[in-house]
This record gives sequence, C-alpha cells and structure tokens, in this order.
Amino acid sequence: MANIAFIGVGNMGNPMARNLMAAGHTVTAFDISADFLARVADAGAKTAGSAAEAASGAEVVITMLPAGKHVKDVYLGGLFDALEPGKLLIDCSTIDVAAAREVHAAAAEKGFPMVDAPVSGGVGGAEAATLTFMVGGADDAVASARPLLEKMGKTIVHCGGAGNGQAAKICNNMMLGIQMASVAEAFVLAEKLGLDAQRLFDVSSTASGQCWSLTTYCPVPGPVPTSPANREYEPGFAAALMLKDMGLALAAAKDTGADVSVAEKAASLYQDYSDAGQAGKDFSGIINLIRDRAD
Ligand code: NAD
Repeated sequence: MANIAFIGVGNMGNPMARNLMAAGHTVTAFDISADFLARVADAGAKTAGSAAEAASGAEVVITMLPAGKHVKDVYLGGLFDALEPGKLLIDCSTIDVAAAREVHAAAAEKGFPMVDAPVSGGVGGAEAATLTFMVGGADDAVASARPLLEKMGKTIVHCGGAGNGQAAKICNNMMLGIQMASVAEAFVLAEKLGLDAQRLFDVSSTASGQCWSLTTYCPVPGPVPTSPANREYEPGFAAALMLKDMGLALAAAKDTGADVSVAEKAASLYQDYSDAGQAGKDFSGIINLIRDRAD
C-alpha cells in the first residue's frame, strides 16, 4: 500500500482520493479550499498545509487541478524539492498539451517518472470508480501508475508518450462538443418541420445519426429519461467545462495548424450560452439557445 499525496481534492479529486483510501492506501491531501480539504479529512485523509508538505515522504503524487496554470504552479513551484527523485507523479487534471509536456520535461530533468492521466466520466464516474483514464508517458511510468488508476477507474488506455493522454482527452471532447451541437440543431429543425422528437429519436438512435449525445444525453426531454434535459439541464457536464475543453482543442489546433472550423463554430455556441448566464447548466442546454435564435 502506498503513501499518496493528493493535491486538488475538489469535486473530482475528493471521491478519487476516497476510492484510494477504500483500497487501503494512505492519502495526505492538500487543497487551497478549506472546505474540500475538510471533506476528505472526514473520509480519513491526513491533511497538509501546502503541496510540498503533502509530498514530503510520499511515494506517489496525484494532482487533480483546474487548469495548466495550477498544474505548473504546483509542480514547478517547489514540489520537486520536497520529493525524493524516482517517486511517481500522476496528473489527472485536464490541461493543455503544451503545459503537460512542459511539466513532464521538468519532471524528467529532476528524475521523476510522470504520467498525464486525464479522465472521462465526471463526478459520478469518480464516485463509482468507473472513470476512463487516458494516459500519456513512458511504458514503465504507466505500468507503475496503472494499479492506482485501476482503483479509481475502469478503463485505462495508454495513448503514447508525454502529453498524449491530454491529446486524447481534448480530441474526444471536441468530438462530443460538435456532436451535441449537431443533435441539438437537428431536434430544433425537426420541431420546425413538425416531426415529433420521439420519432426522430426512434429513427436516428438506430440509424447513421447515432451518437452518445443522442442516445445517452438526448438534449430534449422524453426520449432518454436520465438525460439532463429532463431535469431543467442541471449538469451532468456543465457548459463551462465543455467551453474549457473546446478552448483547449482550439488552442492545440492553432499550435499545430490543424483545421477545426466546425469545432470553432460549435465552441461559439458554448461561449454564447455561457455568456447568457448558463455556464453552470448542462452543455446540452445549448438546444435552448439554438431554439431561441430560430425565426
Ligand atoms: P474543482 O474546481 O472542483 O476542483 C479543483 C480543486 O483544485 C479545487 O478544490 C481547488 O481549490 C483546487 N486547487 C486549485 N489550485 C490549487 C493549488 N494551487 N493547490 C491546491 N489545490 C488547488 O474541479 P473538478 O471538477 O474537480 O475538476 C478537476 C479537473 O478535472 C479539471 O481539470 C477538470 O477539467 C477535470 N474534469 C472534470 C470533470 C467534471 O465533471 N467535474 C470531468 C472530467 C475532467
């Protein structure tokens, strides 16, 4: 069983840390939020007053932070000095590929094996330990991380070298963001044409329009009773998080010269929806923006 430093025990990190403790690991947590830190302490974690203090004496460091800036602040801000070289670093945050590769390179220079391991599955997946991990890093680092990731998730895919976990995450979520926009537009067009939503669902869910945004997350109430549309678009996956991930995809496309013109258009819908005060609503709520814009 390992001594694990867990930095960033927010909505995702809290249940992930709890699953590690349930598997018998010892967790020392740090978060700048006293509230989140208290919650994980209630579940049995030790707490620390800084990331470096949490890392001191740890065998593994896991981070689950909001964005690349926070990940760079934590790893490049003194944590390496608190940790014995050779200890494993696992960053589960969703961040830009460039920042992930920068932190990997700094870790390698100091003698720390590292993996980027962003997740899919949301808070429900974190609680149920059914997350999908998309992992980037060297084979031996991924092999060391795998037994811990298996305590927090169900599917672990090694996507290649440093930063490739982040690359897989943003490519996947770019597809999702575009697909939801396409499904939402189709259902609004169907309304205009006098085609019942359930009938469109019955056709498309078994035809070539089939996708997760339709069959699991249908943006109109009715056809999929568990989708956020049936509970006033309470998330689920908030529009703000989709906007963040689309932003990461657009930035990566800019860096690499990839043409993502459809993603740019889809991202503008999540931006407009967020600007309209709906950032905390589920991302499938863009259907209301699209409907309101129709003549
Ligand atoms: P969150 O905001 O609830 O948690 C992040 C935590 O990091 C907060 O508690 C915050 O106080 C803490 N933090 C920020 N800076 C810190 C620092 N310097 N030192 C220590 N703690 C610090 O966010 P979340 O929903 O848990 O998401 C975490 C990551 O997981 C994000 O990168 C997000 O994009 C990704 N993600 C979230 C979901 C989801 O459904 N919530 C799904 C997949 C991926």
